[in-house]
Amino acid sequence: MLKLIKNADIYLPDHYGLGHVLVAGRQIAYVGQSLPALGSELAVETFDLDGQRLVPGFIDGHAHITGGGGEAGFATQVPTVPISGFTNAGVTTVIGLLGTDDITRNTSGNIARVYGLREEGISAYCYTGGYHLPPVTLTGSVKSDIVHIECILGAGEIAISDHRSSQPTFDELIKLAGEAHVAGLMTGKAGILHIHLGDGPRRLQLIERALTETELPPRVFNPTHVNRGKQLFAEACELAGRGCWIDVTAFPVAEDEDAWSAADALLRYWQGGYPEERITVSSDGGGCLPHFDHQGELVSMDFATSAALPDTLKTLLNHGISLQQALTPFTINPATLLRLEQKGRIDKRADADMVVLDNSNDISGVMALGEWHRYDGRCLRKGTFE
Ligand SMILES: [Zn+2]
Repeated sequence: MLKLIKNADIYLPDHYGLGHVLVAGRQIAYVGQSLPALGSELAVETFDLDGQRLVPGFIDGHAHITGGGGEAGFATQVPTVPISGFTNAGVTTVIGLLGTDDITRNTSGNIARVYGLREEGISAYCYTGGYHLPPVTLTGSVKSDIVHIECILGAGEIAISDHRSSQPTFDELIKLAGEAHVAGLMTGKAGILHIHLGDGPRRLQLIERALTETELPPRVFNPTHVNRGKQLFAEACELAGRGCWIDVTAFPVAEDEDAWSAADALLRYWQGGYPEERITVSSDGGGCLPHFDHQGELVSMDFATSAALPDTLKTLLNHGISLQQALTPFTINPATLLRLEQKGRIDKRADADMVVLDNSNDISGVMALGEWHRYDGRCLRKGTFE
């Protein structure tokens, strides 16, 4: 079935203006200012957006799709994230991963959830491994997992500068980065290490040293949660200047906390004139949000959702950032890092993953792979057990 989306104010993410988009199956077949010529013999469903903004679907590059948590007893394991937890937040592509718990959660479970989300209609991928080294893999090594398993794009989230890490040494980290890089070359996949940053004072030292002492390209080292400390973020911005993609997490930040919200971090990054293409934002959805005291004792617990992404976008727009700029860390930037060429853009031959924003910057519609999951403010598709 062809779907014609008429009268949309289109962001590619660059502002294109008023136009029409034709969707054929799972892909975009046409983007233009005049209506495409469609013979009356064709079956076409038409959707008139009446000037609402149409933007690329969001890529959530860091989500605990099986549910994360479990850091304060087994009862604190977060349940599996249902598909509408992503689609209602505008997320049409998600990258699943494991964190602290890579024992009762494993790569096999992550892959199963990737396939489940695909069956339910969105694009999903995952990393192999988790916080700890040696990493939990399915086929025996990070390189082999990336090479043999289609949905595995790299390794992560590998924890450094964190009391929950395996205290990886420099040699361990660069060996793993080398495996991911070579597997990426062999497959055309991202081939990156997605690296969890903790609160520790060593911050980014291991990555900075790897850039200086090894031949590995900077893009292989992809630190996340870099807005969790102000000094850490300042150093991460410099790392972006050296060629790394850095990822900020849309977690809640208290006024007096030594951290930047994702929106504040992005604003500072853009003001600082760092490379615009090398920053992304992710939700940590399904992950727990623990707060520890200086002895590593858990003080309180919450869990994250992908809804933090559209909230961050709204905050950026309220700060006067243009929509075309605000969209980049949610769309084209992660697509570039992850080598997902069909994603993060509204373009002929790209996947038909799109989000409709209403006048209040709320998400009124979401199309994933050519199917509406949300339209006119209503959720149309739910997961098997929702
Ligand atoms: Zn993490």
